Amino acid sequence: MSGRHYDLIAVGGGSGGLAAAQRAAEYGARCAVIESHKLGGTCVNVGCVPKKVTWHAAGFPEAIRIAADYGFEASISPVGWDKLKEARDAYVLRLNGIYASNLEKRDVTLIREQAQFVGPRTIEAGGKTYTTDHVVIATGGHPTLPEIPGKELGITSDDFFELESRPQCVAVVGSGYIAMELSGMFRALGSDVSVFIRKDRVLRSFDPMLSEVLTERMESQGIEIFLCSELCELEMLDSGLSLTVDGGREAFDDFDAVLWAIGRSPNTSGLWLDAAGVDTDDAGFVPTDEYQNTNVEGVYAIGDVTGRAALTPVAIAAGRRLADRLFDGQTDRHLEYKDIPTVIFTHPPIGTVGMTEPEAREHYGDDVRVYTSRFVSLYYQLSEHRPQTSMRLVTVGEEERVVGCHIIGDGADEMLQGFAVAVRMGAKKDDFDDTVAIHPTSAEELVTMR
Ligand code: FAD
Ligand code: NDP
Repeated sequence: MSGRHYDLIAVGGGSGGLAAAQRAAEYGARCAVIESHKLGGTCVNVGCVPKKVTWHAAGFPEAIRIAADYGFEASISPVGWDKLKEARDAYVLRLNGIYASNLEKRDVTLIREQAQFVGPRTIEAGGKTYTTDHVVIATGGHPTLPEIPGKELGITSDDFFELESRPQCVAVVGSGYIAMELSGMFRALGSDVSVFIRKDRVLRSFDPMLSEVLTERMESQGIEIFLCSELCELEMLDSGLSLTVDGGREAFDDFDAVLWAIGRSPNTSGLWLDAAGVDTDDAGFVPTDEYQNTNVEGVYAIGDVTGRAALTPVAIAAGRRLADRLFDGQTDRHLEYKDIPTVIFTHPPIGTVGMTEPEAREHYGDDVRVYTSRFVSLYYQLSEHRPQTSMRLVTVGEEERVVGCHIIGDGADEMLQGFAVAVRMGAKKDDFDDTVAIHPTSAEELVTMR
């Protein structure tokens, strides 16, 4: 059966697809979004939003422990996991509704079906064929499972949000964003947590200062980190799940849950991209040029499916800029994938933008100067518990342009956005130093470093 013709169809109703279609519709384009699952995609349903809610929940136990040092008689009960899940699910459901009404307001058609290409700009969904001038592939990704026996016994971040009760003894496998965030949340909410990483440090692609301080903090919270421990098998024994690492070198038993957090793979296998002639790379991601063009005219890709900077604001920014270019005559409008700020919602959070120290040294050689500060924030000064905050500025050249800003400590998540503006504008160390500090805060350290 023949469906309508559109100016733009977004395949995928997540962060990127919704942003592209809505911005295009604001310019008067006739748009459709095709979404096979829940509106809002990964971020709203199994990513940023339910994760951040859980992160907030996980902050209470420590806050209440510190409250005693301020003279409060406070105690904390174990988290009501089911109550937390119910409230979190209800919030996500509310957001799903808001996203649907946002589309309606802009007259964007929502097609709740699985989409497949049948030609370069022809798409089939729910037995109907739609044609379009422009099509945006925004199908996101899904958690990767390791190719080892017993992989199906583990859970992923998607399953984390479905857990009806809190597993007591948890193994987390991986060393990136999700492994660090979810292991911190499990621990703070009362689980015993072991983290298995295959290399020699966590968050290897981030500044080493962040890896180092985070490792200290996680270990002081009671999280066990096993370095250079690559899993080769997962088994269910009578006592629980058992992990074997490094070709049988060692086994670890009695886990209630094992969480895979080893990266994400693109949702391209069911898209019939061949029918459109769209190329993918070896891992299935859709490569694009700087304007989000694929190798086929009129077919674009944005967000996680492109394999670049898998973050919600990146997918949104790429989608909106693409619509600006296609429907508002802004011919050079595109997203620069540089100096993208990002926060890892660990306990404490990490905020980071720009080059790490090793990256800067590799690029600029001896022209790099690094400022690092470590201190105990005022918040903990009445307490015997004295966790460290750490900050680092990476500068280059005689004028000391700040090319990297890395923060780990309470408030880093909220601190970073403004500093990211400064880095993007090419601020120099002098500009930081000439800015009057806000006292007493942790952030003032960034403008008083020597
Ligand atoms: P998605 O949001 O994944 O949307 C893709 C949509 O396409 C999905 O809804 C899917 O159902 C649909 N789809 C797929 N194939 C088809 C098809 N054939 N037909 C129809 N529909 C289809 N980013 C941050 O910036 N901050 C965070 O704090 C953060 N936390 C995260 C926590 C977790 C646990 C995870 C997993 C991710 C997190 N991210 C975070 C990353 C963020 O969620 C993604 O970068 C973002 O959602 C990508 O948007 P997207 O539009 O590319 O894809
Ligand atoms: P990441 O890419 O962040 O980290 C996965 C890491 O796991 C790899 O870097 C690798 O590190 C390790 N790894 C890879 N394969 C294996 C394996 N077979 N066995 C053991 N370890 C392995 O992926 P995540 O799944 O954590 O998250 C996916 C993406 O989602 C992130 O990159 C981020 O873009 C986004 N996200 C963003 C968040 C935020 O903004 N706060 C939160 C969560 C996700 P190594 O090579 O060192 O072993």
